[in-house]
Amino acid sequence: MHHFVYKDGRLQAEEFDVAELAATYGTPLYIYSTATLRRHYHAFDSAFEGLDHLTCFSAKANSNLSVLRLLGDMGAGVDIVSGGELYRALKAGIAPEKIVYSGVGKQRHEIEQALEADILMFNCESVPELELINEVAQEKGLVARISLRINPDVDPQTHPYISTGLKKNKFGLNLEQSEEAYRLARDLPGVDPIGMDCHIGSQLTSIEPFLEALERLKRFYAKLQDMGLAIRYLDLGGGLGITYDEETPPHPQQLGEALAESLKDLDVTLILEPGRVIAGNAGIMVSKVLYTKTSEAKHFTVVDAAMNDLVRPSLYGAYHRLAEVTPQKRQELPMDIVGPICETGDFLAQDRTLPELAPGECIAAFSAGAYGFTMASQYNSRPRAAEILVDGDQARIVRRRETYEDLIALETDALTGK
Ligand SMILES: *Cc1c(COP(=O)(O)O)cnc(C)c1O
Repeated sequence: MHHFVYKDGRLQAEEFDVAELAATYGTPLYIYSTATLRRHYHAFDSAFEGLDHLTCFSAKANSNLSVLRLLGDMGAGVDIVSGGELYRALKAGIAPEKIVYSGVGKQRHEIEQALEADILMFNCESVPELELINEVAQEKGLVARISLRINPDVDPQTHPYISTGLKKNKFGLNLEQSEEAYRLARDLPGVDPIGMDCHIGSQLTSIEPFLEALERLKRFYAKLQDMGLAIRYLDLGGGLGITYDEETPPHPQQLGEALAESLKDLDVTLILEPGRVIAGNAGIMVSKVLYTKTSEAKHFTVVDAAMNDLVRPSLYGAYHRLAEVTPQKRQELPMDIVGPICETGDFLAQDRTLPELAPGECIAAFSAGAYGFTMASQYNSRPRAAEILVDGDQARIVRRRETYEDLIALETDALTGK
């Protein structure tokens, strides 16, 4: 059952007509589907039913409070990468014992904040970070539960910007360094090494890289046991891909079965950190056509959404399916769909064949529920878009559209002091 489908020639978001939502709430507009978020979370989490596990949704994919709360209510924990995400997760009612904290650049104040909240564990990415966590914990008379992020040097075969588990990437420690670091962690009084962690990349479309990473971690687990460490958590990160275009990623069930097989003799709690696979296809971004024009070389459709609203095409050359919300039979032609921002890199799609669009009509960018709004900015002093969450016949604004006042709210005019 899909929740963004055409009915009588009009795109629906659950029980709503998307063109009507756009008219009511304005554009650009992010629309998330409650039913889809629920379905995706359930499909993912239940794929690991047979395993002792914890699903920690990756907040950076979509950190809207209502989205976090909705998933939290279904039992999800959260994977955070900043103090700001910790703040959001706690506000959304996520239990601290279901929060894991990843990221290469944790700062002292963020470590303090996470220790005070008593989160499940820090996924620690370097020796200096380990030492700082130890120091901060000791100052507070606490012991920080940690795992080390191990870089298993597995090629996830995805876009270079979203591959993270290769030797040349900035993330984690290689196996040799990890051994040293665990030895150190064992002897530091302010940390308790209870886990192993890796996250090899994003938008993976096969399970082999996950299995290969797990094999390497399992070999390492044995070494840690010999060292006298009691590892209780194995965090395999996120990264399962979704269909943007024609990708055919494995179903979570396939991953679940393969992992269950591989983990059957380990006495650990498996942690998973899915982001995109939960939220990606649970959201669309709707924008309105402003102008069309044809140069000698190209046809352009200028829409009111830009790279500040949805940066993935500009940043990674990512593909988002684009379609009219009220399709009509028209001549199709190749075109660039571009935004109003003064950058050549500002486009939603290039050389895309679409019907000749008319000013005033809306188009939807599909698969925009992950790394869409969370990556939005105010570049060109464009107020950020509104986000709405539909649930059957209910629609709620879960983040109002920013205003011009919001744009300058934090600034002071040096001349007038106001
Ligand atoms: C981004 C990230 C994730 C989520 O990745 P997806 O591809 O969205 O599933 C999980 N863990 C870590 C450490 C991340 O940085």
